[in-house]
Amino acid sequence: MVDSLLETLRNNLAAVEERIRTACNRVGRSRDEITLVAVTKSVSAEVACLLPGLGVHDLGEGRPQELWRKFAILQEASLPVRWHLVGHLQRNKVDRTLPLVHCIHSVDSLRLLEAIEKESKAQNLQHSVEVFLEVNASGEEAKHGFAPGDLPSLPEALLNLRGVRVVGLMTMAAFEADPEQTRSTFILLRQLRDQLRPQVAPVHPLHQLSMGMSNDFEVAIEEGATVVRLGTILFEGLPPGEDS
Ligand SMILES: *Cc1c(COP(=O)(O)O)cnc(C)c1O
Repeated sequence: MVDSLLETLRNNLAAVEERIRTACNRVGRSRDEITLVAVTKSVSAEVACLLPGLGVHDLGEGRPQELWRKFAILQEASLPVRWHLVGHLQRNKVDRTLPLVHCIHSVDSLRLLEAIEKESKAQNLQHSVEVFLEVNASGEEAKHGFAPGDLPSLPEALLNLRGVRVVGLMTMAAFEADPEQTRSTFILLRQLRDQLRPQVAPVHPLHQLSMGMSNDFEVAIEEGATVVRLGTILFEGLPPGEDS
């Protein structure tokens, strides 16, 4: 059973890697510039446990409780991974989540960012948690995130927060049947980052762009993504997890 899961996952990963490399080549980027975060929300912890053996050490979850659950299982198995929270974080879950994560991609308000900084100090964490500001660059009503127009007013508040490091901006494009249609969303995120960066660096390096999912990661890479967050195409043909 595990053997066939592993085989499927290995094949999926090889196909994804090939597509990442091809997209990099098209625009003269190096594969090393891009981190692949495997978003495991649709698969079991058993499947997640296979990833480090295939060289994938950055794992993401959408919901804090599910991240806590899988974190415990992989830690128990002594598997070396860095956890990324990619979905909405409620302030009352910051304390439990912070010690477990390498990175939070979904900081969608200053209040949340302040809560993360306060809790980082209180817990005296060994590592400084990296955060991305989520931007609703596609302008869809149902999405979390800062509006693009909110960003120019942020530098002063950001410079007062030195217990967290804002490493970049994150967005989710709208789902499009033709991925080419997502390009303007990714270009906008890059432009917003380029505008904000000189005002907050080096306190907040803002060198990264977390953008690109299964449907549109190649376009995102062409437009400068440094992190792609992939679930569906990585886990095609694998059994669904406890959470889905
Ligand atoms: C689920 C999810 C992903 C992965 O999406 P796929 O389309 O399955 O690749 C990436 N980012 C976020 C924020 C998600 O919630």
